[in-house]
Amino acid sequence: MRLLLAMMKHETNTFSPVKTDLARFARSGGGAAMPLRGAQAIAAYRGTGTVTGAFIDIAEREAAEIEMAIAADAWPSGPVEDDAYEAISDAILAAVNKGGYDAILLDLHGAMVTRTHEDGEGTLLARIRAIDAKTPIAVGYDMHANVYDEMIANADTVAGYQTYPHVDMYETGRRAGDALMRMLKGEARPTSAWGNVPMLPHVMRQGSDDEPNRSLQARAREIEKQGALCASVFVGFPHADIRNAGLSVVVVTDNDQAQAELFRDELLKQAWDARERFVYRIENLEQSVARAKAMTEGPVILLDHYDNAASGGTMDTTRVLAELLRQGLENVAAFAIFDPQAVEQAIAAGIGAQATLSIGGKLRMPMLPVESPSLEVSGRVKTIFDGKYRAKGPMSRGVHQDMGRAVVLDTGRVEIALISRHVEPFDVNALLSLGIDPMQKRYVMLKSRIHWRAGMGHLAKAVVECAGVGVCTSDYSQHTFRSVRRPIFPLD
Ligand SMILES: [Zn+2]
Repeated sequence: MRLLLAMMKHETNTFSPVKTDLARFARSGGGAAMPLRGAQAIAAYRGTGTVTGAFIDIAEREAAEIEMAIAADAWPSGPVEDDAYEAISDAILAAVNKGGYDAILLDLHGAMVTRTHEDGEGTLLARIRAIDAKTPIAVGYDMHANVYDEMIANADTVAGYQTYPHVDMYETGRRAGDALMRMLKGEARPTSAWGNVPMLPHVMRQGSDDEPNRSLQARAREIEKQGALCASVFVGFPHADIRNAGLSVVVVTDNDQAQAELFRDELLKQAWDARERFVYRIENLEQSVARAKAMTEGPVILLDHYDNAASGGTMDTTRVLAELLRQGLENVAAFAIFDPQAVEQAIAAGIGAQATLSIGGKLRMPMLPVESPSLEVSGRVKTIFDGKYRAKGPMSRGVHQDMGRAVVLDTGRVEIALISRHVEPFDVNALLSLGIDPMQKRYVMLKSRIHWRAGMGHLAKAVVECAGVGVCTSDYSQHTFRSVRRPIFPLD
C-alpha cells in the first residue's frame, strides 16, 4: 500500500495585521526556517498527539509506504500570502502528480483564507481532484473550520475535532483515517451530508467542557456509536469575514445518504436551538481586575482573551497588563508580550541587569477601532531563553514549540515574559521553560481563550476573563463584517 500524507494548517483572522508568509508555516519545525518535507516531516510528527501523528501510525500499521508532501502549520494570523499558499499547494500537487497512491490523507485546518481564495482548503482539494479524480481522500479538520462545499464534496471521509481545547487531534486522525481504510478494504462506502445554520458562536463560549458545546459534541460521538463513520460539529471561526463563517455539521455514513442527512439536521437543530447560550457577555476590565484582586487563593488565571495568538492576535497589546500594574496586583506572571525589539534590548542588558523597556503596542491594527499603546516597564532581567521546547500535552503532545528568543523581566510584582515568535500558552511548558512555576504564582495572566485549560486548567483556583484590546475581540461590534452571509445570529 502507498499513502500520500500532507499537512496544511492555518486559521485565518481576516481582521489581523499579522503577516502570513511561508516561513510562518514552519511553526513546528523545531527551528527550521521553512515547512518541513519528506522524512524530516515524518520524524517531527511520528508519535505526536496530532492528526498527522495518527496518519503515520495508520500507515505503519498497514505496512504502507509513506510519501509526506509537506508539513505546513502556522499560528493563526491575517490572510495567507498568495506565494505562500501556492508554494504549499505546489508541494502537495507535485506529490499528487507522481500518482500510484492507494489513498491520500490530509491534515487541514478548514478556516484558511488567502489573499485570493476565501476557502483555501476547498481550493486545494478541487485542485487535487482535477489531477486525480479517483484516489480516496480522508481529511481531518479543526473544530474551528468554516465549511464550504468543496471541502466536503472533494473528500471521502471527513472528521473534525470533538474537543476544545483540542486534545483529540490524534483521535480525529484515527476517525477519518480508519474510516478510509475500511473503504479501501471494501468494508464501507462513505457518503456525506453537510450543512450550516446562520450563527457565529462566540469563541469564549465554545469550550467543549461547557454547555452548549458539551452536549453537541456528546451527541456527535453517540451518532458515531449508532453507526455513522464520522460525525462532526464545527463551531466555526467567527473572526473571518467570509461568506461561510460560523457553525456547521458534517456526517459521514456507510452508504446511507438519507441517514447522514437526518443526523446532520438533528445536530444543526440542536445547535440552533442553543444559539443564545453561545453568546458571550462582556465584563468591564477595571471591574474584572478589581474582582481578581479580592481573591485570596491562587493561582488565579487572568485571561487576556482579546489578544490571543491562537486566534490571530498580535500578542502585543498591553491594556490588561497595564491594568494589573495600575491596580497593584502582586505575585503575577504574564505570558506573554510579543516584542522582538524589547527582547533584544533585555538580552543586551544581560542577566540580572536592571532594564527599562517600552513593550508591546508596536503592531498597528487598522481594522480595529481601538489601539493599544506601548507600556513602559522597569525590572530585572531574570531569564534569557532560546525559546525552543516541546509540548507536554495533552494538547499537541510532543510537538516542537518555538517562542523565539525570549526573556522574563521581573518588575518585583509581575514577571513579564517577552517573546519574539507567536505561541499560545496552551501548554505548561511555555511557562516552565522560562523558569516560571505557575503554582508559585497568585495570578497568571495568559493571552489565551480556551486552550490554556488543556495544560493548566487543573491548576487554576479561579479564572477571571479580562476584556482588553485586540483583533480577536469578544465584542463583535468592534469589527465590520461585510462578506459573511446575512442575516446571521447574533449580528442581526
Ligand atoms: Zn481550533
